[in-house]
Amino acid sequence: MECSTGKAVTYLDNNATTLMPPQVVKRMVEWTNKGNPSADYKSAKDCRKLMENFRAAISSKCGLNNQYHIIFTSCASESNNMFLRSVIEAHRMNSKFTPHIIISSIEHKSLLNCAVQLAKRGYTELSLIRPDRFGFIHAEDVKNSIRPNTILISIMQANNETGAINDISAIAKIAKGKKIIFHTDCVQSFSKFLLNPTQLGIDAFSISFHKMHGPAGVGAVIISNKIMKLHHLEAEICGTQNEGMRGGTENIPGLAAAFEGFLLSAENRPEKNSKMLLLKQHIMQGLSKYIECKTYREYLSSPPTNNTIIVFLSTCEKKYLPGTLLLSVVNNKIDVCNGKIKNALEQCGVIVSIGSACNTANSKASHVISEMQVSDRIKKGTLRISLGDYTDVCDADTFVKEFIYVLKNLNYTD
Ligand code: PLP
Repeated sequence: MECSTGKAVTYLDNNATTLMPPQVVKRMVEWTNKGNPSADYKSAKDCRKLMENFRAAISSKCGLNNQYHIIFTSCASESNNMFLRSVIEAHRMNSKFTPHIIISSIEHKSLLNCAVQLAKRGYTELSLIRPDRFGFIHAEDVKNSIRPNTILISIMQANNETGAINDISAIAKIAKGKKIIFHTDCVQSFSKFLLNPTQLGIDAFSISFHKMHGPAGVGAVIISNKIMKLHHLEAEICGTQNEGMRGGTENIPGLAAAFEGFLLSAENRPEKNSKMLLLKQHIMQGLSKYIECKTYREYLSSPPTNNTIIVFLSTCEKKYLPGTLLLSVVNNKIDVCNGKIKNALEQCGVIVSIGSACNTANSKASHVISEMQVSDRIKKGTLRISLGDYTDVCDADTFVKEFIYVLKNLNYTD
């Protein structure tokens, strides 16, 4: 791998995964000022054709076989909210008993908070499935939580903080066996592995196009026709657009850019994933030349040491997203502060994320890391490195160099 010219700022946070390349920006501009797609003039018809083509592309890449509705939304947060609310609302309209839903405790807050709100209002009973200490949700735990009144299970395909990929096919199978609706938030995984919902037995899924080189503010919820009909699902935002399932004049510039980004993201996907995985490995190996590194599993089974070590909470195994690396700087003698590391890295032009703040004021701790029940030591040193399609070996080398420099400068290493 060759290092290209240095960049002013190296983004290894969400910016790395949500980059909008020039051709996508160009497409967005081209489709600005085309008018209202519901109108009757030529450019409005072009807009309708654009949406039709976009739906056809998603449909063909995901093998939807005309069996799913593609409802464009303003973001995946809306998709998650909309699906949950419409299922619960339809149930309230058509049944007498209080339903029960199952989600994981590490879902994105858009889904988690929505489910908690619905439960607080008394519209549903709620079970939250906790992850194991490595961040995975187990199908068996989901199965054991099913009640006679369970109507919906929603478990994310891959977690945004750990990159842990759940076996949603096994969970979907359990749901199907009990005639329970199965929804998955696949915002993180969809850009890496286009899912085929018919093969996996998925009734509905949420996606966001800013994870696929598109703009923020364009998402979709894709729902099986059978589920829509059987459960009498209705719009949460009423109007005539999206076949009456989600009102609002469509965001044509956003959709045009999302379409372009979607096609671009899907191009040579396996090669891009392999490159990302190699870069993740390159970073892990690079760090291990300077500091002792352990996987979290190794860390848990080895005796404590007084040296600073780096613990990898996500690994290069297939069960993690190729571009996500959650690590923690741990020292048994000193209090490591991930916020200080993040700020010092920013001073060096390297941007990373922290999942959980080092001062462990509970309100600041990431719910995902907290739910994994890691120790305070691990929590306080946690940093998330995100690699995107345009991350290169120069970015990886810059990170390793500056990270080691920062740890020394903060007296976290000798
Ligand atoms: N779900 C997951 C797993 C995410 O990572 C995100 C955002 O990154 C969302 C949902 C929300 O997506 P949006 O920003 O489009 O609302």
